[in-house]
Amino acid sequence: MVDLKGQYEKIKNEVDSGIQEVINTTAFINGPAVKEFQTNLENYLGVKHVIPCANGTDALQIAMMALDLKPGDEVITASFTYVATAEVIGLLGLTPVLVDVEPETFDIDVIAIEKAITQKTKAIVPVHLFGQCANMEKIMGIAAKHNLYVIEDVAQAIGADYYFTNGTKAKAGTIGTIGCTSFFPSKNLGCYGDGGALYTNNDELAKKIKMIAHHGQSVQYVHDVLGVNSRLDTIQAVVLNAKLKHLDEYAAARNYAANYYDKALGNHPKLKIPARSKNSSHVFHQYTLQLIGVDRTKLREQLQEKGVPAMIYYPIPLHEQKAYKSDRYKSGDFPVTETLCKSVLSLPMHTELDEETLKYITDTLLDLLK
Ligand SMILES: *Cc1c(COP(=O)(O)O)cnc(C)c1O
Repeated sequence: MVDLKGQYEKIKNEVDSGIQEVINTTAFINGPAVKEFQTNLENYLGVKHVIPCANGTDALQIAMMALDLKPGDEVITASFTYVATAEVIGLLGLTPVLVDVEPETFDIDVIAIEKAITQKTKAIVPVHLFGQCANMEKIMGIAAKHNLYVIEDVAQAIGADYYFTNGTKAKAGTIGTIGCTSFFPSKNLGCYGDGGALYTNNDELAKKIKMIAHHGQSVQYVHDVLGVNSRLDTIQAVVLNAKLKHLDEYAAARNYAANYYDKALGNHPKLKIPARSKNSSHVFHQYTLQLIGVDRTKLREQLQEKGVPAMIYYPIPLHEQKAYKSDRYKSGDFPVTETLCKSVLSLPMHTELDEETLKYITDTLLDLLK
């Protein structure tokens, strides 16, 4: 599904010498590369504050702690997403309120958000799924009207641009109250282990986020609030500094592959190619097809036999997972999510896909659908 080795070969010198430097100076924790990366990412995103942390799940948890969300508060998020989004809501004793997604973009349904708002609602967590932004302009409007926080889960869409109707644009994750991202190796900006970050334009919140990520500490050994231990390793910051310079090229390489797939597969009656939103650029974390009248399990096995990996993101909707079962929902409540979970198939998507490989993948797939 990804080719991290091929990508590494192209930045090997910088990564190897940077990691060696960290070992030579033993600055494993909070070394200079961490601060450099923070500044580099702030400049790239055009956001006032980036606070690195240990992973994307921690970023989401720290965001909710920094906003003082309390048990009983309701947090609205999408039923079609990676589990981490809902997990931290549950862990903090908050109530996850799931809503359906839009059939074209797979992103959270803005009409469903508004319907789900109650007196207890405190925040909305839009997930920019598969690399394209949710409808942030509408979401920010709803949040303003109902006085809600917006925590953007930008783990799959770092670098994507959101286009406002007035002609301006902003990077995914810099529009809401806080943005949360992940540097898991296979993400669009991935390190060689775990990593994550929060973004915000609010000075007070940035201070609080920093404090919470460091044991709630204001000055060394002075602890003002309950916190966690969540840091980005210096070695991971070295890798991220090297890769951030290429992030736009990486997005272009992913778009090249996506355009190839679109062209080769767009006219097949059993395949629905992913739609492009008018309001967002697409950084193609995943290229996700919908299958129409195809035995997905069998097709996946046949592809595998021919050396073509294909994955199902995500096979089970959150409201049908044992851990998230609730009296609030029953099967059938989120028809779009339920249909997608039964019909989606993601093809290999990364920065190293050349024409020959793409041709092999699409020829193999088309052949199997005959
Ligand atoms: C990967 C991911 C996360 C969690 O990131 P980790 O770094 O693995 O903790 C959260 N939300 C979404 C949508 C993700 O894809």
